[in-house]
Amino acid sequence: MAKTALVWFRSDLRLADNPALTAAIAAGQPVIGLYIEETDPDLRPLGGASRWWLHHSLQSLQRDLAALGIPLELRRGPAEATVASAVQTHSAAAVFWNRRYAPAQREHDAAIKAMLLRDGIEVSSFGANVLVEPWDIATGAGGPYGVYTPFWNALRQKDISRPLPAPAPTGKPVTITEPIDAAYRLPHWAEKLGAHWQIGETTAAAKLRAFLDGPLGDYPEGRDFPARDVTSRLSPHLAFGEISPRQLWHAAQVLNQRAPATAGPVEKFLKELTWRDFNYHQLYHRPDIAREPMQARFGGLPWRDPGDALTAWQKGQTGIPIVDAGMRELWETGYMHNRVRMLTASLLAKNLLVDWRLGEAWFWDCLLDADPANNPGNWQWVAGSGLDAAPYFRIFNPVTQSNRFDAAGAYIRKWVPELARLPDDLIHDPAAAPGFVLRDAGITLGKTYPEPIVDLKASRERALAAFKAL
Ligand SMILES: Cc1cc2nc3c(=O)[nH]c(=O)nc-3n(C[C@H](O)[C@H](O)[C@H](O)COP(=O)(O)OP(=O)(O)OC[C@H]3O[C@@H](n4cnc5c(N)ncnc54)[C@H](O)[C@@H]3O)c2cc1C
Repeated sequence: MAKTALVWFRSDLRLADNPALTAAIAAGQPVIGLYIEETDPDLRPLGGASRWWLHHSLQSLQRDLAALGIPLELRRGPAEATVASAVQTHSAAAVFWNRRYAPAQREHDAAIKAMLLRDGIEVSSFGANVLVEPWDIATGAGGPYGVYTPFWNALRQKDISRPLPAPAPTGKPVTITEPIDAAYRLPHWAEKLGAHWQIGETTAAAKLRAFLDGPLGDYPEGRDFPARDVTSRLSPHLAFGEISPRQLWHAAQVLNQRAPATAGPVEKFLKELTWRDFNYHQLYHRPDIAREPMQARFGGLPWRDPGDALTAWQKGQTGIPIVDAGMRELWETGYMHNRVRMLTASLLAKNLLVDWRLGEAWFWDCLLDADPANNPGNWQWVAGSGLDAAPYFRIFNPVTQSNRFDAAGAYIRKWVPELARLPDDLIHDPAAAPGFVLRDAGITLGKTYPEPIVDLKASRERALAAFKAL
């Protein structure tokens, strides 16, 4: 049997700018793609929404690879044993992959590399999923960055590799004999997400072009307004690697060279994108950012028993409209606008003093862009325990924020339709509306819409006292 080369796909479900795939093809042996649903207990299992996206993304990748002449195989099991058995089945002489950065993932990859080398199999790994490898960017003292702005200043000076083109076909298209099936048990609630998303590399590339050609111009001002559709919505595509951060970086730079007037919006966009690298930097350098506070003193915070508050928050029934709108958007679409993510997270971790890890876990299960670096990194930023986090005394007032960023209540009306008939100035805080206004709008607090589950002023003071005592 001819020797083959395996490409082990993980968070890089694309053909273009995929150095592992390009190198495997260049090596000249027949190439076989492999995706493993890893069952090792120390690897964080995907959430429900992510499993749904993964299923469709793998189907798309399988079609794209088949057109290049490369089959894609899905296997399930512990990573090391599964790679070993795939190598044996396909008489592989070489295995290629793009790197991943969580400590447990790295340990597995190192062990697998050692196993393969022992068996005389070649192993090649590449940087593909961040702008700069976490070890290639360091402070003057040689350590990891803990503050964002110097990280950004250092990263922008780096020579970010140009993205690779998609490889040319290696032979005749292959027939798909084993279509990707839902080995990873799709949650029944996730099918509704299909109404809101198209999945795969081609869609991701088209979305990037459309974003740069249009909404980008309004990005610096508009990105904070949840009813305005001016962000790229590329996050799930990035989370699964259907597009690479380097492709975003260079496409934005090219636009800027062609149209110098876009300099401001391009810089703002790249600055936001670089938060992703900053979070990957923390994921790489710290033990377990989804469990351990990055600032150790926050470990002593007296979290409250979540009781019914957590369920009310998850279901979008807190009685605080902008928060409920966000939580319902998340449940219906697998996405939530960034500003509203901050408000919902702040209500849970600060006003309700519920351990941020419970909120992070809910987001992990429901978000299509659930990301091992960005989700815990942002939760810790909001909770105050992250590096360069919002200072603990800055506690968002969701009603003030709602007045500011959803002044006409369009976002609230979309996701909390039972409040739709309230006037713009009262929709942010129905509990403050006079009785006759509520009656006219068909609202009975406690029946058609909840009373607020928490007093914002008193809970703010409670949180301040708890944080101050640390
Ligand atoms: C509590 C909380 C949890 C979050 N969880 C996730 C998560 O699991 N996955 C995730 O990708 N983002 C997460 N974010 C960050 C941010 O909300 C999303 O990246 C953004 O809303 C995605 O929409 P977009 O692609 O239209 O972003 P755009 O504004 O178009 O930005 C482009 C890309 O830049 C990156 N980016 C933008 N803002 C941030 C940010 N604040 N932090 C890190 N990267 C950023 C993302 O990769 C994003 O896709 C979280 C934010 C908060 C406050």
